[in-house]
Amino acid sequence: MKYQELEAKSALNKVKGRFPFKWDLNIYRGCEHGCIYCYAIYSHKYLNDCDYFETIYYKKNILSCLEKKLSSPTWKHEIINIGGVCDSYQPLEEKLQLMPEILKLMIKYKTPIIISTKSSLILRDLDLINELSKITYVNIACTIITVDDKLRSIIEPGSSSIINRFRVIDQIKKHTNASTGIHIMPIIPYLTDHPGNINGLYKMAKK
Ligand code: SF4
Repeated sequence: MKYQELEAKSALNKVKGRFPFKWDLNIYRGCEHGCIYCYAIYSHKYLNDCDYFETIYYKKNILSCLEKKLSSPTWKHEIINIGGVCDSYQPLEEKLQLMPEILKLMIKYKTPIIISTKSSLILRDLDLINELSKITYVNIACTIITVDDKLRSIIEPGSSSIINRFRVIDQIKKHTNASTGIHIMPIIPYLTDHPGNINGLYKMAKK
């Protein structure tokens, strides 16, 4: 695995299309979770790099860029999606600890957020998520596409186990005001599209 610094020109990307958020914030480029169906691999081509899973770029100046944007008198406090083309809680985050500082800025500037992750590392920041959720909209979701953890370890090798992802939702729901959700996507033909899997996911979510 290679880690490289990247200088960000700006923190937020304006999102076009019908999404429940106006902005996207990616603190990393590339993702160690290595999902075989990853939709975000294309984003590395802008870095002239084709090693999306093995070369992870981190934006060393992301906090100053973000504060510049959020402190602007023109900032309208619109919803920011954190992690459109990466998982913000991938393994490197354990070492760099950028997300607690990002969340502190969201609290300071009362900015609503959405986070989707496949990592239980997010529970490290439970207190900050709780603090933010008391003052503005926060939605935390985990992508969970199979009840079979063996299959999960093949198609999403760097991610947290299924049970730990359900625990994330459980803990966020119990200890914060954030709304929570599960993304059952993609549904992969022949692997995860059978009724036993889909019904199993609903049963575990209900529980
Ligand atoms: S967690 Fe998301 S961004 Fe990361 S490899 Fe999987 S699909 Fe791609």
